[in-house]
Amino acid sequence: MVSGWRACPERGCCQPVSSCQDRGWHRDRRRFRSPQHGQDPILTPMAPEKPFKIQQISDPGRITCGVDAGFHSFSPDCLPFRPSSPYPESQNVRSVDLTSYGLLVEDVHRNPPVPQLYADSIRADTRSVIAESGALIAYSGAKTGRSPLDKRVVRHADSQDDIWWGQINMPITQDTFLINRERAIDFLNTRSRLYCVDAFAGWDPATRVKVRVVCARPYHALFMYTMLIRPTAQELADYGDPDLVIINAGQFPANLHTTGMTSKTSVDLNLEAKEIVILGTEYAGEMKKGVFTYMNYAAPKAGILSMHCSATADRVSGQTSVMFGLSGTGKTTLSADPRRLLIGDDEHCWSDTGIYNIEGGCYAKAIFLSHDTEPEIFDALGYGSVLENVIYDKQTHGVDFTDDSITENTRGAYPIENVSNAKVPCIGDHPADVIFLTCDAFGVLPPVSRLTPEEAMYHFISGYTAKVAGTEVGVTEPEATFSPCFGGPFLAWHPKKYAQLLADRLREHGSNVWLVNTGWSGGAHGVGSRMKLSFTRAIINAIHEGRLIEAPTKIDPIFGFEVVTEVDDVPSQVLWPESTWADKGAYARAAAKLKGLFEDNYAQYR
Ligand code: ATP
Ligand code: MN
Repeated sequence: MVSGWRACPERGCCQPVSSCQDRGWHRDRRRFRSPQHGQDPILTPMAPEKPFKIQQISDPGRITCGVDAGFHSFSPDCLPFRPSSPYPESQNVRSVDLTSYGLLVEDVHRNPPVPQLYADSIRADTRSVIAESGALIAYSGAKTGRSPLDKRVVRHADSQDDIWWGQINMPITQDTFLINRERAIDFLNTRSRLYCVDAFAGWDPATRVKVRVVCARPYHALFMYTMLIRPTAQELADYGDPDLVIINAGQFPANLHTTGMTSKTSVDLNLEAKEIVILGTEYAGEMKKGVFTYMNYAAPKAGILSMHCSATADRVSGQTSVMFGLSGTGKTTLSADPRRLLIGDDEHCWSDTGIYNIEGGCYAKAIFLSHDTEPEIFDALGYGSVLENVIYDKQTHGVDFTDDSITENTRGAYPIENVSNAKVPCIGDHPADVIFLTCDAFGVLPPVSRLTPEEAMYHFISGYTAKVAGTEVGVTEPEATFSPCFGGPFLAWHPKKYAQLLADRLREHGSNVWLVNTGWSGGAHGVGSRMKLSFTRAIINAIHEGRLIEAPTKIDPIFGFEVVTEVDDVPSQVLWPESTWADKGAYARAAAKLKGLFEDNYAQYR
């Protein structure tokens, strides 16, 4: 099989085809149909108006295709040669030619208006409705969360030494990728209408990535239009070729007989082709986190730190802070802070010039969402938003945010402009404060501690949080999770790569680092209770206002960091966990056990 980047076959130049100035050859190719997989790879013209200059291709192994995708490494037996596009190449920004991907569907809608996506979503899925708030309610089917065990990365000579291979990044071959890709393309070709979303990832114009999403479900198109950075009409007209293409055929399963498949779901990243193929899951978050995984490869390669964190800025001084944290630790909730400006809730980069959001939208957990406790998020979930897997009142279309009958992971995606205090463009200065959020369900870690640079690295690499016990009766023991860089599932390089980039930035900019426990207090899950949101907010405010720099601290005898013992509006007793436990012996045992888990986990990085 062919692998690697190919030069332009016509010009024989040594640059990727997408950079080749002479596009005539590539246009001519569209007159040809892609042979089915396994068929004779001889090209079969579809009644071309002028004969195809087959002699142009002296070496079939050098054939280049997927031009617009920047894809340059097909084997000859799956060439996406296709008939000419029904659309003239015009200035109409809504028309797009996807034939270079092998997509023959004529009815392709590029960045359609939001009302059309609403209408199409409701027409395509009778369960979909418009919520009372104006958001689109949509359903993702069987998968209501990510499928981390089904993620695959193509092992390729150019990138294989960069990737942190293992449970998180499981390799597949180029051949397997092509089989899954063709499966996805074949499925999409059975649809009567396709959607193409062309948008950006990264608010820094110098480094932004042009992301193209090709999908069949209008709700997926709306979701990514909401979550990516929406181009202006001029930017769309000038868009050119994308840097990353997501081919989402999530309604169609992977084939279990394909080498390397362990389920009917597969999310495949090809770094050389700059493509992501999705099969067997309609959970929209796969696309968002697919982009993040790509950024987690591309950004560090360019010396930029990509981070699983939220970011806010002071309204007056513009001083910024970032909050790292695994799922459910409070990145989105705590960054929706009326006292501050919101830069972003989940994915950011830290470059030499400061921080910037990767996304153009937020994706909040919707379970138990209420206007009383989280008014900013509640109010943002209006027109242009997608509410996933929620239950609503059939009479009023009001959403019941307490209903977890489909999933506990109900979600709302909203454009960042829906947040009244959003800082657009979503860019900020180097952060003054770096906060690590952890949801410690053992009730051991203090609500807020100050970390030295060494402790910061230890906790960044550890990436501790805890999952609460399942819903089974009597099961109260929480489960510790260590996810390096507070974003293990999305890392591409070894955690040390990100840790080094963070260490360099902390040193250069003198940011303060804090460990904040948003989890349990007064005992472990089952005995104590979740930290009051008002306490955590008071702590975050105090950090942002610089009040904790001089606050009194006490060294934690087990973990060794400085525990802040006085914060306005938080009872002192809560700030020192041992004092909230009725059984002091139980606290000591729980703390020692957690420390042991930290050490056991960290041993792999020493
Ligand atoms: P993800 O990476 O999955 O988006 P996240 O870090 O953004 O996760 P949030 O969506 O902010 O997590 O979820 C935190 C959840 O915990 C919210 O539902 C919030 O209401 C709840 N919560 C309860 N107590 C607290 C607290 N003290 N601090 C933060 N969040 C809390
Ligand atoms: Mn979030």
